[in-house]
Amino acid sequence: MDFEFRDTPKLAKFRKEVRAWLDLHIPMDFEISDNPHDVLPGSIKYEFIRAARRKLGAKGWLAPTWSKEYGGGGLSEGEAWVIGEELAQRPWSRFGTGDFFRNNILTFAPQLYTLGTEEQKKRFLPPILKGEVIAWEGSSEPDGGSDLAAAKTTAIRDGDDYVVNGSKLWLGSQFDNADYIRLVAVTDPKGGRHRNIGLFLVPIDLPGISKVRVPMMRNCHTGGWQIFFENVRVPVEYLIGGHENATNAWRAISGTTRVRQISVLYMESTLRDRNQEFVLDYCKKTKHNGQSLSRDPDVREALVEVEIQLEIQRLFGLRQNWMTMTGKRLVGYEGSQTALQGKVTATKQADAYADILGPAVLMKNPEWALFEGNIEYQHFVPVAHASAGITQEVNKALMARWVCRAGD
Ligand SMILES: Cc1cc2nc3c(=O)[nH]c(=O)nc-3n(C[C@H](O)[C@H](O)[C@H](O)COP(=O)(O)OP(=O)(O)OC[C@H]3O[C@@H](n4cnc5c(N)ncnc54)[C@H](O)[C@@H]3O)c2cc1C
Repeated sequence: MDFEFRDTPKLAKFRKEVRAWLDLHIPMDFEISDNPHDVLPGSIKYEFIRAARRKLGAKGWLAPTWSKEYGGGGLSEGEAWVIGEELAQRPWSRFGTGDFFRNNILTFAPQLYTLGTEEQKKRFLPPILKGEVIAWEGSSEPDGGSDLAAAKTTAIRDGDDYVVNGSKLWLGSQFDNADYIRLVAVTDPKGGRHRNIGLFLVPIDLPGISKVRVPMMRNCHTGGWQIFFENVRVPVEYLIGGHENATNAWRAISGTTRVRQISVLYMESTLRDRNQEFVLDYCKKTKHNGQSLSRDPDVREALVEVEIQLEIQRLFGLRQNWMTMTGKRLVGYEGSQTALQGKVTATKQADAYADILGPAVLMKNPEWALFEGNIEYQHFVPVAHASAGITQEVNKALMARWVCRAGD
């Protein structure tokens, strides 16, 4: 089966248009730091990404396949693919590009669309899909993240408000400030499991919300946040779908969890891996005991193993794309499989680079860091990514459900 994406004449024309627009607004030679640690608000990179995000949003290219009515581009899957592919080739790190497609648009917007009232959709979707506002995902808690139904944060109705108490952990790892928290909370502590969960869009500046930084390996400079809710009065208009929809909230959340796994496909995964390109080049140019590192049999074996894993990941990415384009079943084990392969590949890549490059993989200061800190970032990110979103074990459990379902 050939999953490779090919432009039709119409798409080739569209690609030219996209490229010309990107050359103006996100030019190839724009001097933006490639350092993945350089993401704090106020930094050129952070401000540039936010501004670019808004420009893309205004054009409808941040959520290309969403209808224009809700702030999307009203474009086809093919056009969306072209935009993603062209964006992924712009000169910034994987961190920067992924953000254009992350949680707000891939996870929260579908939940809002599925569950929200028409009034809420018209009010909240456009600013999200146009990249004007950012919502942090408030799902995980100090006592656990995989099982959302075990959430302890409560939101109890009191007049026209819900009073929220509890705490959420690991928020904001992609952007250091937000306008809203997309909150999962228990609306009826005595209600049945899975039937007592509400989904809220909570303005972050409500009285009673406080936050502390939590160091995270993945974002060494920024980390994430733990958010505390102390008698926070959230007006009922921010409960997505209204109280009577609490049962549906669970369906919307668990449904988009699977969608998110499918969406783990970022365009980068179908392109050549930039870190691998760097390491291959480095090994060809760097001599050890009078010969290039790339002539060493152990180095060659490690590099080939990474190549194989990256190619499998690329093929899974292309398959996901092919499934979307051809209208194949979208909610199967394939999303989890792609996500799992991404996590496994990154871990193997980090191990291989540590074997080949030694302590250099631990350096992030500009004087010693390889590839502007990307290799150091690559070394630590798989540890965090192993549990980010959905853990490897839970991805396997989701796949097992599909693979074994005939016997259930
Ligand atoms: C970099 C990063 C960014 C994050 N960003 C956010 C964010 O923005 N918002 C947010 O809400 N959360 C965020 N998280 C949290 C993330 O979603 C959770 O870490 C994840 O859901 C797992 O939850 P947990 O860490 O509490 O582990 P737990 O759910 O407590 O699981 C503990 C262990 O048990 C295993 N396990 C659990 N259930 C099963 C099962 N059914 N079968 C087999 N094994 C199982 C898990 O695999 C894991 O090994 C982030 C995490 C990271 C690392």
